[in-house]
Amino acid sequence: GPSVVWFRDDLRLSDNPALHAAIERGRSVVVVYVLDEQSPGIRPLGGAARWWLHGSLRSLAASLERLGATLTLRRGPAEPVITELAASVGAGAVFWNRRYGAAEREIDARLKAALSSGGIETRSFAGSLLFEPWTIRTGQDRPYSVFTPFWRSCTSGPPPRMPHPAPEAIPGLGGDLGGDLASDRLGDWALEPSHPDWAAGLREAWEPGEASAHHLLNSFLRDSLDEYADARDVPARAATSRLAPHLRWGEISPFQVWHATDAARARATGPAAASATRFLTELGWREFCYHTLFHAPELATVNIRREFDAFPWPPPDDRALRAWQQGRTGYPLVDAGMRELWRTGSMHNRVRMVVASFLTKNLLIDWREGERWFWDTLVDADPASNPFNWQWVAGSGADAAPYFRVFNPQLQAARFDPNGEYIRANVPEWGTDAYPVPIVDLGETRRAALAAYEHVKNTK
Ligand code: FAD
Repeated sequence: GPSVVWFRDDLRLSDNPALHAAIERGRSVVVVYVLDEQSPGIRPLGGAARWWLHGSLRSLAASLERLGATLTLRRGPAEPVITELAASVGAGAVFWNRRYGAAEREIDARLKAALSSGGIETRSFAGSLLFEPWTIRTGQDRPYSVFTPFWRSCTSGPPPRMPHPAPEAIPGLGGDLGGDLASDRLGDWALEPSHPDWAAGLREAWEPGEASAHHLLNSFLRDSLDEYADARDVPARAATSRLAPHLRWGEISPFQVWHATDAARARATGPAAASATRFLTELGWREFCYHTLFHAPELATVNIRREFDAFPWPPPDDRALRAWQQGRTGYPLVDAGMRELWRTGSMHNRVRMVVASFLTKNLLIDWREGERWFWDTLVDADPASNPFNWQWVAGSGADAAPYFRVFNPQLQAARFDPNGEYIRANVPEWGTDAYPVPIVDLGETRRAALAAYEHVKNTK
């Protein structure tokens, strides 16, 4: 019978191992995406992520169409939905690329059992990570909790496999079966906002889809790689790759990014080669976030360093939280970042660290509040990278920044946005009477945070 390929966080045709294997199997191929908001433990997507998903699926469907295949869309709990689809087409095999969250792995395990008992072959593939989390272990055979030895261990073995080329054609179902396959209409899922339509800034900043991911990678390697190591911390410079949402949705694979960068590194000399190594290390942080999520599935809700459970968060201050969310704290770099996020669905990495530090250490608001806001507003909102980095800044995470490292938003602005270019671009009223006065005193709140932190140490 035909092969079913279940697309998930791998919305691409090239270097898609599950699709590649299905085509190799030599039967007709059914391609499906399931919008699953019902399986137990599945975290509903945020607003910006839903917007991205809409564009990405539209792009994927068009690419599939060009190769002769039709993307089937279904909605519901994934395990029964896929089982039913497989039965209705008389599938002989169901293939997918792995995900690493606990709820997602449980769905896959149940599906595997259900399909196998019906005599249908199942196979899962490594498509989203360069190094499968269970393969990288310390000398004591434990998962890593510190980045540097983790990445050294990853990079001391054989290099990641080469990417698969894009398929040239996909053998469709044809005949009666193909015509009959029921599919939802993408528009009916209402992934895009309508009333109000807040996505204008997102549309301006981004183009979801595989083609645009490769375009970004190529122009980054051509124009910006040389200066990446120096300029990556300067938010006014467009010196980073902007690949994060494309990697989040699997429109490009880390294998493709790795090998293209490695080839550029081989051609480069001097500072450019060091820049390439630095860029690959950032991909390594993405791997480390997933390594951590795999071993600590409750990363988004539970402190990795459990002694932080004793941290005495003051009662919630909704007024301060809203000022932070809306970019009205009176600290221009913080406000610029939060407004960039709201407008474009993204924020420069340096500024993410500053706004996260400000929320947790100057407003003394629980990192989980910040993580939730980012989850809703980032187009790259990622189940591993978002909670990992929030815990990293808050001090409760794996290999985290020490708690007493409180970013001073004024010093950070002077250092990384010395001419105020980034701030002016995002906070046009900065420097006029219309700009809010600071909602807190930096020194006072920093001292309060360090005093609260004493509880963590004392209960250890
Ligand atoms: P580049 O500098 O070009 O880096 C290349 C790639 O490496 C990125 O696309 C990304 O996939 C990966 N990468 C870089 N830095 C990190 C990092 N610190 N952690 C994990 N992967 C990294 N990144 C996300 O992809 N999703 C998130 O939800 C997310 N939430 C964050 C929350 C906070 C509080 C902080 C401080 C950082 C967060 N990051 C997140 C990491 C980082 O800010 C973004 O990956 C980066 O800004 C994306 O821009 P870029 O693609 O141009 O990065």
